Amino acid sequence: MKKALTIAGFDPTGGAGLQADLKVFSMFGVHGLSVLSSLTAQNTTGVSDVMEADPDFFKAQLYVLLEDIKPDALKTGMLYSADVVEIIKEAILHYKLENFVIDPVLKSSSGKMLADKRAIAAIKAEIIPLAKVITPNLREASVISEMPIADMKDMYRAAGIIHSMGPEVVVVTGGHLESNAIDLCFDGTGYTEFPSPKLPGEFHGTGCAFSSAITANLAKGASVTESVSIAKEFITSSIKNAGTIGKGMKLLSFECQANSFTMTSIDH
Ligand code: PLP
Repeated sequence: MKKALTIAGFDPTGGAGLQADLKVFSMFGVHGLSVLSSLTAQNTTGVSDVMEADPDFFKAQLYVLLEDIKPDALKTGMLYSADVVEIIKEAILHYKLENFVIDPVLKSSSGKMLADKRAIAAIKAEIIPLAKVITPNLREASVISEMPIADMKDMYRAAGIIHSMGPEVVVVTGGHLESNAIDLCFDGTGYTEFPSPKLPGEFHGTGCAFSSAITANLAKGASVTESVSIAKEFITSSIKNAGTIGKGMKLLSFECQANSFTMTSIDH
C-alpha cells in the first residue's frame, strides 16, 4: 500500500486543506497520512480566522508518525508559522523523506494571510531547496520570486527565479491568467506548458487538490512529468464538475467510484 503524507491546515468546508488532500489521495488509491499545521475558521465565502498549531505538539504529531511510517511522498499546504516550517525541514532531513511537494499557501482568495511574514521567509530559505516539486499560483510565484507577474513571459522568468532557489521542478499554475489557464513546468533545462480552457467561476481549493494529485502519483512511482500531467487532467475535470454548496465559492468534485454504487438497498 502506497502512503502519502499531507501537512496542512484544517478547513471546515472540506474544500481545501487537509481534508481535501486526503480525499484526493484516496481517489488515486493512496493511503493518506495527515499532520495538522494550523486551524482555520472559514466557509465558502472566505476565511475569517486562523490559529497556528502549537509547535511542540506539531513536532510530536509529526515525529511519532514518522518513527512508525515512512511516506512514499509528502506535501505541505498551509503552514502558517516559521516554527512549523523549521520542524518540517528537520524531519525531512532526519527521516530522509523523498518526493516532497510544496504548495506554498500564503493567502486565501478572500485575502486572509495564511502564512505570517517569518513563515514566508522560512519557506523560501529552509524548505524550498528540499522540494522535488513546488506548485505556486501566480500570486504565490510573484511573492516568492519578488517580481510582478502579468503574462506568460513573466511566468517564465518567475519559474526560473524560483528554480534557482533549489527545487527540482517548478510548476507555476496559471488558472488566474486573463485568457487561458496555462500551467508552466520548469525542470531547470526545459519548459513545458500545460494548457486548458479557462472555466468560469470562483473555485475553492484548486491548489490543494492539484498538489495532492501530484503527490499521490509520485507516491505511486510516476515521474514528475507524468504526475503533473495526470494532476492537470484530474483538476480540470474536478473543476468542470464543481458544485455550489454554500453562499460563496464552488467546491471541486472528485469523481468517485463510490458514485457507481446504487442506493437500491435503501431507496424504497
Ligand atoms: N484554507 C486552507 C486550510 C487552505 O489550505 C487554503 C488553500 O490552500 C485555503 C484556505 C484557501 O483556499 P482558497 O484560496 O481556495 O480560498
